[in-house]
This record gives sequence, C-alpha cells and structure tokens, in this order.
Amino acid sequence: MSNTAPLDAHLAQVLERIGEVARALRWKQAVEEGLSPLQIRIMGFLADHADEGIGVARLAGELMVSKATISDSVKLLADRKFVVRKPDKSDARSHALHLTAAGKRHISSGTPLDVAIAELGQERKEALLLGLMGVLELLFRTDALNVQRLCFTCTHYRGDRKKEHGCALFDTDLRVAELRTDCGEHVVSWPSMP
Ligand code: SF4
Repeated sequence: MSNTAPLDAHLAQVLERIGEVARALRWKQAVEEGLSPLQIRIMGFLADHADEGIGVARLAGELMVSKATISDSVKLLADRKFVVRKPDKSDARSHALHLTAAGKRHISSGTPLDVAIAELGQERKEALLLGLMGVLELLFRTDALNVQRLCFTCTHYRGDRKKEHGCALFDTDLRVAELRTDCGEHVVSWPSMP
C-alpha cells in the first residue's frame, strides 16, 4: 500500500460526506419550499442551460428520469410560476422550458453549502475545482462514469490541467473559473491517461 493511502481514503471519505451533505441540504430546501428535489434539479439544469431550448425529453435524458415524471414535475413548477413553456426557436412544433423571474430568484438563493463555498478564498476554490475535475476525468477514463462534458475530457482542450488552460474551438485561453464541467460544445477525447 502506498504511503499516500490514508490521505487518499480520507479524501474519498470527505467527498462522500460532501455529497451526502449536498443531497440533504437540497432535500431540506425542497421540503421547506414545498418542492421535490427533482424539481430543484430541473430548475438548476434550466438555469445552467438557459440558451439551449431545453424540453422535457432532454431533461429526462440528462436527469435520468422518465419523461412522464419530468412532465408531472414541470407542470407543478409551471403552476407555481417558476417555469414557462415557450415555442422552441429551432423547432416551432416543440416547446422549450424557461425559468421565470421567480424561478431564477429561487435558484440563486442557494443552500448553506453554496454559502460555505463562497467563503473560501479564490486560491482554495481554484485548487478544489481543478482537483475535483481531475477526479471526474480519471473516473471517466477508467470507465467508472459515462462521458462527462468537462474541458479535461474534451478534444478542444489545450493546457496542462494545472496552470494553463485554453479552448481551441473558442480560440481562447480559459481562466480556472471559466473551465466547463457541462459544455454544450464538448467533444470527447480518448488520449492516454494524463
Ligand atoms: S469546447 Fe467546451 S469543454 Fe471543450 S475545451 Fe472548449 S470550453 Fe472546454
């Protein structure tokens, strides 16, 4: 066993704890506001993909829930005026879902986890993001996860995964905060392990 094993196990334990805490806080927030955790996830996804004309089918695929379940949740969100349906610009026969002003306010309220993250200094936030993106990349490359649309697994990524980052598609350097973890232009790359 390597001498970093205790640290590795400790980190894995902390990550697991953070996941549990995030789920518990989302659940508490949902219950307090009379929403389901799925409805919170739907609004979060719509907020992150505001320009993409997201419909029920895409939500079902992304959130791995049936279309019927998504439709029921969306109907309740529409009843509460958190989302509206508008004709999809790219296909007049279908509708895209959009957050209303009330829905956007709701999403921006965040949980104590968001508040705690905001308190970290810039350096620690950037180190955390790079480390976690590295973990996601390795999980993907060892077949433990499906494709993750993050810069580190993208054919357009140019950089060293540490200090230098850029995107060949957008022809630009990227600051750490600009690295994507769910990019619509992502094209998977299959290089050898970094
Ligand atoms: S296309 Fe998107 S995921 Fe790929 S490197 Fe550029 S910004 Fe990152």
